[in-house]
Amino acid sequence: MPDRSTPSPAKMPAWRPLLRGLAHRCPACGRGKLYARYLKQVDSCAACGAPIGRIRAEDGPPWLTVLILGPFLAGLTFISARQESLPIWITLPALGAFAILAVLMLLPRIKGAIIGLLWAMGGGEPDDSEAG
Ligand SMILES: [Zn+2]
Repeated sequence: MPDRSTPSPAKMPAWRPLLRGLAHRCPACGRGKLYARYLKQVDSCAACGAPIGRIRAEDGPPWLTVLILGPFLAGLTFISARQESLPIWITLPALGAFAILAVLMLLPRIKGAIIGLLWAMGGGEPDDSEAG
């Protein structure tokens, strides 16, 4: 029988839920899944019952993804443009495909890390404004 007591954010260091979110796991226990679909969070953890569905990462994950990938892709584009051995009709589609794949891989991980960090800061706790 699974342990249904929800772990408290105050009892663990903030990096642990961040790493659990990065691995697509529940930030509270690390056992349950974080996502029901690609970027759709589960309402509550199947293993510990933590209400991770109420944590909203909002615009943080896309912004952080752009901030991380932007300089890397700009440098890669600059380097590939200076290569005269590869034709542009190969490098541009290859760079575009790489950029799309990199965003698709990085975005759920960054969202998970932000959800983990928000959970560590008490983001999963009931809000006073929801009571009334
Ligand atoms: Zn859990």
